[in-house]
Amino acid sequence: MSRIQLKGVSKVFPTRSGASVAAVKDLDLVIEEGECFSFLGPSGCGKTTTLRMIAGFEDLSAGEIWLGDRAVSIKERNLYIPPEQRGLGMVFQSFAVWPHLNVFENVAFPLRVRDLPRTDIAEAVAQALRHTDLAGLEGTFPADLSGGQQQRIALARAIVTKPRVMLLDEPLSNLDPKLRESMRFEIKELQRKLNFTIVFVTHDQAEAMALSDRMLVMDLGKVQQADTPEALYNRPASRFVYGFLGLSNFTDVELRGGDLYVPGSKYPLPMELPAGAAREGVMATRPNEITLSPKDEGGCPAVVVKRLYLTYCIEYQARVGDQTLRVHCPHSIVLEEGRPCFLRFKNPRWYPRESGRAEIERNERQVI
Ligand code: ADP
Ligand code: MG
Repeated sequence: MSRIQLKGVSKVFPTRSGASVAAVKDLDLVIEEGECFSFLGPSGCGKTTTLRMIAGFEDLSAGEIWLGDRAVSIKERNLYIPPEQRGLGMVFQSFAVWPHLNVFENVAFPLRVRDLPRTDIAEAVAQALRHTDLAGLEGTFPADLSGGQQQRIALARAIVTKPRVMLLDEPLSNLDPKLRESMRFEIKELQRKLNFTIVFVTHDQAEAMALSDRMLVMDLGKVQQADTPEALYNRPASRFVYGFLGLSNFTDVELRGGDLYVPGSKYPLPMELPAGAAREGVMATRPNEITLSPKDEGGCPAVVVKRLYLTYCIEYQARVGDQTLRVHCPHSIVLEEGRPCFLRFKNPRWYPRESGRAEIERNERQVI
């Protein structure tokens, strides 16, 4: 019943200069009932627009959206069901709690506009407040509550109508890091108790990974890859996805006589030649998947150019040819700046070089 399906969904906005921006391009997607599904991508990639089209706050330029077996938006047929008839709960980044209403009235609002009997409202609000740990604060005004409590009001208001689907647009972005982490668990716990489907939007990869059953990485209005967090992390389909999911080195490499070299280095890289490797490409590595050793154990010769003491590791910046790589090592490895070292790579990946155009386009799409 609460399966969400998008078929060929696009959204084009006119811009002030008279041009247009393709906020979302030809999106096909199925979100299964009961899933926690995240949209992840940089600012301007089209996450909010997609969520607003699912919610019904935004018309489509093309395509269809279905909730279960019910069509809620079909551009071709001019079919459009308004948000209040879609049975969805929504929480935004700006908590959007009403400052002039106390906690009870904030949460009761969606029920009041439906004209429900008083006793039903009181019961539903009491239940929503219990689920969000706000019981006892009914008469308090938002200004007297912490940021976390205010965000819980927004959550309580979203669940009070018992929606089958919850749409959450960067709901934790305005909270401090510790609170963000605990709120993640509270959202998951609410889902476990109330059994709704979650569609979660974030630009924070750690948040998406911690919460999601599956997630979709988006760039420039297009799907890059959709899968489980583990599959995305271990098998990123593109350089963009690789770079978005964790710390990364992108090192220019070139193919010479059947081996890969870093430009300016005369030592071949100790890695197998990837399928489809062209004359020039990029080797992607994670700083914690490189081993740095003072001894030559079959590694790639490098020089330590910088050492930074970090909480969980020491970061060495190591120079190979004309490229610098970040390497995260245990604190037990001590090497002075300027010393030679040897690098070995676990799970290196090869990608084609990206033209600078995509980066320019990304910057142009940023929403200020
Ligand atoms: P995200 O949520 O991923 O940061 P958005 O969906 O908000 O991205 O925006 C995607 C693109 O669409 C951006 O380039 C943004 O400037 C543009 N955009 C979003 N909403 C509007 C609007 N109402 N009018 C014009 N352009 C918009
Ligand atoms: Mg957004």
